This record gives sequence, C-alpha cells and structure tokens, in this order.
Amino acid sequence: MQSFSIFPFEPPGDIQALRQEVRAFIAAHMPQTRAAGRANCWSVADPKFSRAMGEAGYIGMIWPKRYGGHERHPLERYTVLEELLAAGAPVAMHWVADRQSGPLLLRYGSEELRARIVPGIARGETFFCIGMSEPGTGSDLASVRTQGVRTKEGWRINGQKVWTSGAHYSQYMIALVRTQEGSERHAGLTQFLIDMSSPGITVRPIIDLVGAHHFNEVFLDDVLVPDSMRLGAEGGGWAQVTAELSLERSGPERYLSSYALLVEFIRQAGPTPDAATRALIGQFTAELWTLRQMSRSTAAKLAAGQDPMLEAAVVKDLGNSFEQSLPRRILAGIGGLADLSDESELMEVLALLLQISPSFSLRGGTREILRGIIARGLGLR
Ligand SMILES: Cc1cc2nc3c(=O)[nH]c(=O)nc-3n(C[C@H](O)[C@H](O)[C@H](O)COP(=O)(O)OP(=O)(O)OC[C@H]3O[C@@H](n4cnc5c(N)ncnc54)[C@H](O)[C@@H]3O)c2cc1C
Repeated sequence: MQSFSIFPFEPPGDIQALRQEVRAFIAAHMPQTRAAGRANCWSVADPKFSRAMGEAGYIGMIWPKRYGGHERHPLERYTVLEELLAAGAPVAMHWVADRQSGPLLLRYGSEELRARIVPGIARGETFFCIGMSEPGTGSDLASVRTQGVRTKEGWRINGQKVWTSGAHYSQYMIALVRTQEGSERHAGLTQFLIDMSSPGITVRPIIDLVGAHHFNEVFLDDVLVPDSMRLGAEGGGWAQVTAELSLERSGPERYLSSYALLVEFIRQAGPTPDAATRALIGQFTAELWTLRQMSRSTAAKLAAGQDPMLEAAVVKDLGNSFEQSLPRRILAGIGGLADLSDESELMEVLALLLQISPSFSLRGGTREILRGIIARGLGLR
C-alpha cells in the first residue's frame, strides 16, 4: 500500500508580484479572443506566444540555469501556469516539452542531449509530442508493439503511434518502444528521443468532432535512431513512462480546461445574481479551491523528486470530473432549454465544451484506469 498525503504548500516570497508580472505579460502578448477561444487553451497552439513565453523566462522555470532554465521555485512555476490557464492563453506548443519532455531529458538524457536540446525548449523554440498510444494500445500501455531493433548504425524503429497531440508542429517525439523481441508487458520497453524530420516518419492529421486538428497518426517506417538518442537504460522504459505520467496528470490543466466557461457564467450573472446562481458559483469555487490545494501539494512532491503516482491519479480523476461537469451543471443552472445556437459568448463556449469535454477524462489516462491505480495504491485491490 502506498502512502497518500495532501498538505498545504505555500509559495515563497512575494508571489503576488509574480502574479502581477504574468498578468502584464498576458495583457501584452495574448491575442484577443472570445471565450470559446480561451477554453481548453492548453490545446491551442501559437508559436509567437510560446516564443514570447521563452523570452520572458516562463518556460523551464525550475530547470538548472546551465540548460537555459531559471532555477525558480516550483510554486512560482505553478503560479505562472495557473495565471496562463485562467486567462486562456494559447500555450499548447510548448506545454508538453515544459511539463514532461524537458524534465525527462534532464533526468535520463546524456549530457550531450541535455546541452543540445533543453535550452531550445526553454527559449520556446523546440516542441515535443508524446509517442505512447498505438492502435489497440491506449489504456493497456504495456502492450506497446512499435519495435526497435539494434543495428550497427543505431536502432531501426517500425510501428505506429496514434492520438499524438502536436506531432504536426513538434521537432521531437519521446516514444515508448519495445526493444526486446518477444518480451512481454512491462519488460523490454525503452524510451527514445526521435527527431520528427527523420526519413521514414509520416504524420497524418486526425480531425476531431469540432473540426480542429490537435492530434495525429504517426507512422514509423524503418526510422534510424542513433543509440545516443536512447533515454535511460535499455529495457527501463516502463518505470520512466509511469514517472512521466505523474508529471502529466497532476497540473492545473487537469481542472481548468472549462474555466473560461465559469468566468463567462459569472460575468453574465452580473453583480446581483439570484440565490440559485449564487449557490452554484459558491459550489464551483469551493471545488476549484480544493482541487488547487491538492494539485499544488502534488507539484511540491514532484519538485522534491518524489513520484506521487497515487496523488496525481486522484488530482486528475477529481479534476477531470470537475471540468467535465461544469458545462452540464451550468446548462442545468441557466435552464435546460437554453439556445445553444445563440451567439453570445456564454452560449458559444458552453456549446464547445459540451462537445469536447468528454475527451478530458480520456487524454492522459482514462477514469477507469486512474481508479484502478488509486484502488491498488490504497490497498483495495
Ligand atoms: C485529446 C486527446 C489527446 C491525446 N493525446 C495523446 C498524445 O499526445 N500521445 C499519446 O500517446 N496519446 C494521446 N492520447 C491518447 C490517450 O492517452 C488514450 O486515448 C487513452 O489512454 C485511452 O486509450 P484508448 O483510446 O485506446 O481507449 P481504450 O484503452 O480502448 O479504452 C476504452 C474504454 O475502456 C476502458 N477500459 C480500458 N481498459 C480497462 C480496464 N482494464 N478496466 C476498466 N476499464 C477499462 C477505458 O477506461 C475506456 O473507457 C490522447 C487522447 C485524447 C482524447
């Protein structure tokens, strides 16, 4: 049984000054959008905004300075992230690299890779995608079939990844690959850094329900990857990928994807909402505040080098439930007969989130899988 703990974690120094600084940065650099353009903003890509973030020192905030980082406190980073997400800033391009690929490279990459690649991430110029899922391999990640065979020149990789967010604008993928022929399940998996411009890589768009292009199919046909691009030990991929998922699951993006709707709802309610609306706003605020404390506590554990897999799964499950429930609860609050074709900002963002929010509890691991991890962690299964 793993220990489960959430504790209050306060940022150091004058976090309000940083908050004001980030708000001024957002006001200066974020393009004007309607509420629907601000919802789920960590799926909205804007290279100019990512570059400006890099210049302002808001990417790689907690990484060592010698790799282009800024050696800030993890809660300073958390504060920047929550301000960006609350404002609906277009952060998708650098999000994966800042959240998990950079930390993975710093931990498992060679010194040559760290020095060559990490500074570009911190500048907001180098972007990453996650090559985990494959056709038939989503929840059951240990069944990965993309194969890497060692040759004299390096590794020859063959297979297919799917649902790969941002593969169409990323220079690199970190892929989970089976490197031991005939190996089963968790053994024999290795992570590789793959240059997306390598011969043999084909990226095909997948267009989602609302007509947007976020994710892709990625085909790897005899792609040559030098051994120097291997991350960590051969066969050590499973432990690395599960630690990476803790980074992926516990951040503020796991409960703020529908925040633009909440803001619009409160704006439309005006200064003197009726009692039922006041009660609803109070409930949303209490839930949001609790999730924020849990997520900040998990961020502190990650920064201390721990792997809070259990806490991260709880944050993601409860956070996704919150952000998925907002559109339904607000629709019920304003009356089920609300006209979703109405062109007000509230209706526009509500209609969008009603369509895309089911995906919030799929990306990064489904609800059923998270609950399995939680049950196992608590010794219930
Ligand atoms: C918006 C979005 C972005 C994504 N981006 C990426 C990305 O960048 N890179 C990447 O690698 N992947 C990405 N994914 C893929 C995502 O990780 C998978 O969709 C997810 O892990 C589920 O896998 P699956 O789609 O194969 O569903 P399946 O695994 O087939 O699951 C189908 C259903 O069965 C349930 N189920 C499966 N196994 C069990 C079990 N043992 N017990 C109980 N229930 C179970 C699941 O919970 C789910 O409800 C993305 C997905 C989305 C929606």
